Amino acid sequence: MRELLKTHFGYDEFLPLQEEIIGAVMDGQDCFALMPTGGGKSLCYQLPAMARPGLTLVVSPLIALMKDQVDALEANGLPAAFINSAQTPDELAQTVRRVRAGEIRLLYVAPERVTEPRFADFLTTLSVGLIAIDEAHCVSEWGHEFRPAYRELAGLRQVCPAAPIIALTATATERVRADILSQLGLRNPQTFISSFNRPNLTYSVAPKERGLSSLLSLLERHRGESAIIYCGSRKSTEELAQTLSEQGFKAEAYHAGLEPNERRGVQDRFIRDRTPIVAATIAFGMGINKPDVRLVAHYDLPKSIESYYQETGRAGRDGLPSECVLYFSYGGKSRQEYFINQIEDPEERERARWRLEQVMSLCSLNACRRQFVLEYLGEQWPGANCGGCDNCLQPREQYDATEIAQKVLSAVIRTGERFGAAHVIDVLRGGKSERIRTQGHDKLSVYAIAANHSRDDLRDIIENLKAAGLLAANAGEFPTLGVTSRGREFLKNRESLTLARPIVQRKDPAARESGGGESYDAALYNELAALRREIADQRGIPAFMIFGNRALQDMARKAPRTPAEFARVSGVGRAKLEDLGAPFLERINAYIQEHGQQRGTPETADSRFRGNDCSLRGNDGSPRGTGGPATEPAPRITSQSYRETGEIISGGASLDETAAARGLSPQTIVGHLERLVESGIPVQWAHLLPPPQRRAAIETAFEIMGDNPLRPVWQELGGEYGYDEIRLVRLSRRQAAQAKPAPAPSAAPDPRSMLRVNRPLP
Ligand code: ADP
Ligand code: ZN
Repeated sequence: MRELLKTHFGYDEFLPLQEEIIGAVMDGQDCFALMPTGGGKSLCYQLPAMARPGLTLVVSPLIALMKDQVDALEANGLPAAFINSAQTPDELAQTVRRVRAGEIRLLYVAPERVTEPRFADFLTTLSVGLIAIDEAHCVSEWGHEFRPAYRELAGLRQVCPAAPIIALTATATERVRADILSQLGLRNPQTFISSFNRPNLTYSVAPKERGLSSLLSLLERHRGESAIIYCGSRKSTEELAQTLSEQGFKAEAYHAGLEPNERRGVQDRFIRDRTPIVAATIAFGMGINKPDVRLVAHYDLPKSIESYYQETGRAGRDGLPSECVLYFSYGGKSRQEYFINQIEDPEERERARWRLEQVMSLCSLNACRRQFVLEYLGEQWPGANCGGCDNCLQPREQYDATEIAQKVLSAVIRTGERFGAAHVIDVLRGGKSERIRTQGHDKLSVYAIAANHSRDDLRDIIENLKAAGLLAANAGEFPTLGVTSRGREFLKNRESLTLARPIVQRKDPAARESGGGESYDAALYNELAALRREIADQRGIPAFMIFGNRALQDMARKAPRTPAEFARVSGVGRAKLEDLGAPFLERINAYIQEHGQQRGTPETADSRFRGNDCSLRGNDGSPRGTGGPATEPAPRITSQSYRETGEIISGGASLDETAAARGLSPQTIVGHLERLVESGIPVQWAHLLPPPQRRAAIETAFEIMGDNPLRPVWQELGGEYGYDEIRLVRLSRRQAAQAKPAPAPSAAPDPRSMLRVNRPLP
């Protein structure tokens, strides 16, 4: 299995539980796999799909994601396809044909389709070797993404009785898990549950007051990286996106009120690193499978701890350090309470209230936030200091709160335990409200005894007293505060109390030093990221599908110089070695040459490049310029190098000949040519164009699909045309469109050339 892992996916080691799950699937057992986001669930059926006979059927709820999933598999050389309602009849027919012919190993389908009788008939004609039900929590009404069609999936067992079923989810709640097992009708399933801790995520909480400036400095530290900022309303997403844009950050808003194609556009630009920052309502995320989101901020309070976990979980799927910052304010709490009070069903209203209380407890917590969240999800956290939350990294200062606690508790008692926190605070601060006067509370001994405390301070203290069990809030539309028996004892026995300073008074909690991590050559990393971007753009796929950041870091660390060395990079499997080895090796070798440095064996490279090093966790826990368009340097290959290419081509050499002469890949040669033509440097390259018939076919595909990105064009052509020839035809189109002279025929015109036909009139 390890060999297959390296060959197909390029990894050397399994992630926790992967090996066990794959083993069970290979034995033909039904499985239920619970792993957090980023835990590596997909591999648990993708690897068996390659190792087991027959077709693997993957039920996946998100049509928008299927294409990306299939693209990513194809990039690894795994034959995959999808069937969904967004396809044209032609595409569908083509996929069906390829599936019938046994060319496809993994077939992705939406649940609604699987349960159609016609599709079931189709399935019975195939030999299905494995069924994977992804996002299995969609079967449960208790989950947040219920899909009725999932309920019908149990019927698959009759259609494909021989195929084991593996159900996968990142859902963390007990109830949903139980539902999945009962609804999907798994046969004596083996259940695998891994820890839901996300070690690479750092959690912190910050006051919303001054939130914008804090957010701006956060974004500055993450400039060029992907960030999601969750907001409570559509309007606030738009306002925030606007403000951020004015502050020089490229940001867009995303919410359910946008037209479907607008929404798709935002998602697409985000995934392709065109828009690094999205200010979104919770509607954003389900369809996002971007592995390199480095920051998730909650600019407004999340609805529950579960949703907080879910939403922050979208950070750092690639396992690299990422940050989660939650901004809180008591005003935000009141706003949510307002909405909660509109809920009609009393039980549902109570639940919502309780969930909000839990979120507030997380905010005012003085202990480990990771522990709090995991324990909420039913998992024990063993360690004392997690080393990855603000409270563990920078403990809050303690102070003697005995006196203020006595004052607060007395105020609650004196006002009759009939009022909420807002009124009690008013009394303590000596407010002049109507209610204080009519209740005669300005006559009480507790009136204005804490006038030197700010409102938020007192809020924080009240939350702390609740957490300490001295105060309790009665549920109800207007929750009132009461003193617990513990609280009464505290007063009676004149006990003392130590509390942590309110978070409001802490310096920027997110800005902290963190060190350690494996080092790599950051400048080389940037070179490789630039190359990744170029290739991704040419193919019209997201950059992370070429290589993830982890693979690039490993590449920058090992600086491989030969294909054999390149194959050792984590994330480089057989297909990527063949497909991408040449351009990346070329870029690495060029880099090393340019730096005039003899790197020696890759293993010792690190120590020689101390000057350039950056650590995996830089000042803020992440390297600079990891894939964002804003920070990527221009490729370093010199213009001299382009000119040499141009001269050889103008001399009549073919693409392969030029590539051989330059010691570069044909793909890179086409890239040089594009640069040359764009910059108006004359090159005679008409002989490189494909023959008329092929060219016409490509032209037609461009007419239908547009000329950027190229992948749809390539697909339109049934995958039977190479990217190089497609790019060359595009180049001639663009040249023609610019009304510049089209590429002039070379001295000895190639008979295949179509140029005279197509050349625009001067
Ligand atoms: P999930 O579906 O559980 O959220 P994915 O299947 O998307 O997780 O995997 C998360 C990331 O981890 C992906 O980038 C994937 O390529 C990577 N990954 C999976 N298995 C391994 C492994 N054995 N070694 C290294 N990286 C892995
Ligand atoms: Zn902690």
